[in-house]
Amino acid sequence: MTVSQNNNPAHRAAQVTESGGPVRISVVQPREPGPGEVRLDVKASGICAADAGMAANPKPAYGFPITPGHEVAGVVAEVGEGVAGWEAGQRAGVGWFGGSCGHCTACRSGDLVHCAERRIPGLSYAGGWATTITVPADALIRIPDGLSYEEAAPLGCAGVTTFNALRHSGAEPGDRVAVLGIGGLGHFALQFAAAMGFETVAIGRGEDKRQTALDLGAHHYLDGSAEDAGKALRAMGGAQLILSTASSSSEVT
Ligand SMILES: [Zn+2]
Ligand SMILES: [Zn+2]
Repeated sequence: MTVSQNNNPAHRAAQVTESGGPVRISVVQPREPGPGEVRLDVKASGICAADAGMAANPKPAYGFPITPGHEVAGVVAEVGEGVAGWEAGQRAGVGWFGGSCGHCTACRSGDLVHCAERRIPGLSYAGGWATTITVPADALIRIPDGLSYEEAAPLGCAGVTTFNALRHSGAEPGDRVAVLGIGGLGHFALQFAAAMGFETVAIGRGEDKRQTALDLGAHHYLDGSAEDAGKALRAMGGAQLILSTASSSSEVT
């Protein structure tokens, strides 16, 4: 590991040091950005289910200790050689997309997320459960001033996943859209769906999710533990799109 010249002993990371081991907070040295890389001081970092899986069953490409974290928001601290368009002090984040090769078939057709050599923070290199992260500059997302770091961080994975599913679905404003599962992804899906002008139906399990779903913008709530949600949805006239954020789709089949 290259140690940055302006290293800061106060930098810390939540790391797993061995397979099956616990997550521990360690003091780390920032990695100086190489050519084409940028180092961020991390201000907020999400905890995604994929991170939890990574921490429990780590298969790091970069060896132990591993640092999970792919929902990261912070401030540009150092810019590596040859990086254009970024400078220290800018607000920036990195999500599940952690860099691409720029020359494979997918990259050349603009489909960067399906790059044959796509990189993922936490898996391909030390991730964002830390106060510092060094990433390829092409992985960075600019964060608008109106968005807090805490709001911005999870948009890089849970947010973009549901946003893209909705905007590429073909549903039009006014159409009825159902969101199955009111967890981390569902929270985003409901807010995006309502803001996009869809008549938004939340399908959860239990009455305790009802008020949350309505507060997030849902127009209707179906409790799949108390009624046949698929039948209830059909009785409403069906839906143009059912966005499933749950691992089981039995509610609507
Ligand atoms: Zn994730
Ligand atoms: Zn590529």
